[in-house]
Amino acid sequence: MATIEYEPVIGLEVHAQLRTRTKVFCRCPAAFGAPPNTHVCPTCLGLPGALPALNREAVAMAVRAGLALGCTIRRVSRFARKNYFYPDLPKGYQISQFDEPLCEDGSLDVPMPDGTTRTVGIERAHMEEDAGKNIHGGVASQGLSLVDLNRAGVPLLEIVGRPDIRSAVEAAEYLRQLRAALMFVGVNDGNLEAGSFRCDANVSVRPRGSSAFGTRVEIKNINSFRFVQRAIEWEVAHQVATVSAGGRVAQVTKTWDDVEGRCNVLRKKEGSDDYRYFAEPDLPPLTVSDAFVDAVRAAPQSLPAARRARYTRDLGLSDNDAKVLTEHPALAGFFEALADRTGDPKRAANWVCNAVKTGFASDGLDATFPVTLEQMAGLFARMDDGTLSGKLAKDVYAQLAGTGDTVDAVIARNGWRVVTDASAIEAECRAVLDANPRQVAAYRGGKRALLGFFKGEVMKRTGGRADPKVLDAVIAALLDA
Ligand code: ADP
Ligand code: MG
Ligand code: ZN
Repeated sequence: MATIEYEPVIGLEVHAQLRTRTKVFCRCPAAFGAPPNTHVCPTCLGLPGALPALNREAVAMAVRAGLALGCTIRRVSRFARKNYFYPDLPKGYQISQFDEPLCEDGSLDVPMPDGTTRTVGIERAHMEEDAGKNIHGGVASQGLSLVDLNRAGVPLLEIVGRPDIRSAVEAAEYLRQLRAALMFVGVNDGNLEAGSFRCDANVSVRPRGSSAFGTRVEIKNINSFRFVQRAIEWEVAHQVATVSAGGRVAQVTKTWDDVEGRCNVLRKKEGSDDYRYFAEPDLPPLTVSDAFVDAVRAAPQSLPAARRARYTRDLGLSDNDAKVLTEHPALAGFFEALADRTGDPKRAANWVCNAVKTGFASDGLDATFPVTLEQMAGLFARMDDGTLSGKLAKDVYAQLAGTGDTVDAVIARNGWRVVTDASAIEAECRAVLDANPRQVAAYRGGKRALLGFFKGEVMKRTGGRADPKVLDAVIAALLDA
């Protein structure tokens, strides 16, 4: 019997926190990290009689995100109540949007590791409020479960992707790209650990060539790109094994357990009927004017895709360097400043994508760099004036990173400058040739590849300081004499 080949079908839902100062329906601070239940008021506690009032900044950010994703912005959208009981949801319902969301029908171009680009459709992006947080166990709780409502009412944008993704790797790349897009337009801080960018993955499989979709499993609340990839890989393998053995995939909700390295069933998948959605009576329809949308559109912004295009087309960078540089707005900003200042974008990209990126750390939109722009510009200047070879520049960089030193101070301290004096280099070359008579004979007998060996030996003797151009000329003259 011929074995059927199966194809994964994946659609991702992302909850991105909008970076407003205050919550979406009240004036409590939206900031993370405060002591439990200090950012609360009658509205976000769901006390009787308290009414929601929509945060204008949250709408502006949602529109900005929608435009960045190429969505149509509905001029009239509606809020709805999604009803369910959970202790972290004090009202007993979540205010969300249902059949008339703010943003619809967009797409995101996702560069893949193999150099191709995949366009993933965005079905909709709608506004909603976050729930609180249940805390189980722990020292302070004395075995009880506690609820922290600081997060209740924080504005979220739920971005529902179409089932256009075909592998776990594509899913992770899509998420990286979506996160970058939201960070570049300043509406989300991209902080997965703090939960401001979270993902649900919907996974199904179908016989390759079939156009119908299989039954999907939803994996909830995955908060790392690596986990997303592992969870999807596991789930796809599990579903293929199930259907190949003649079984059926059950429509359930699961969670990823990274310690066990598997998905576990959480509950039977709820349908939208279960939530008894109805129009939110406490909020009028959300109307956004053309002028409002135009004002958001007019704000300067440069998306990762636009920057990548500029980097490769105008600055001559490789696709891969352009992709790496646009993973974080701060990285792109550092690169652009260094390229501007030194007039050498390719070299700037090379250094930023390698040495600098290694020591780069980000916490949401905040970032720290191992070196300053001044230090990098100083390094480039000393390469340009011939004081440093590429090899020496790397040594200087290693001592520069994490210090306030100037490039010149590091050079002076170590006595690292290129030796350009031809007679000094010639003396080193002669010593190398004298020490290796057999190789010299072989070279003269036609083994030209040995040239690299001789140069390497000279570099070893000089601690990498011989000027490569002078060395080339001197060694060739001696060997071919
Ligand atoms: P729910 O809220 O119940 O998860 P939604 O319609 O909001 O339902 O979300 C559907 C998500 O599931 C979308 O991201 C969509 O791309 C994805 N999806 C729908 N059908 C499939 C399928 N057969 N396989 C994989 N993903 C799917
Ligand atoms: Mg879902
Ligand atoms: Zn409040």
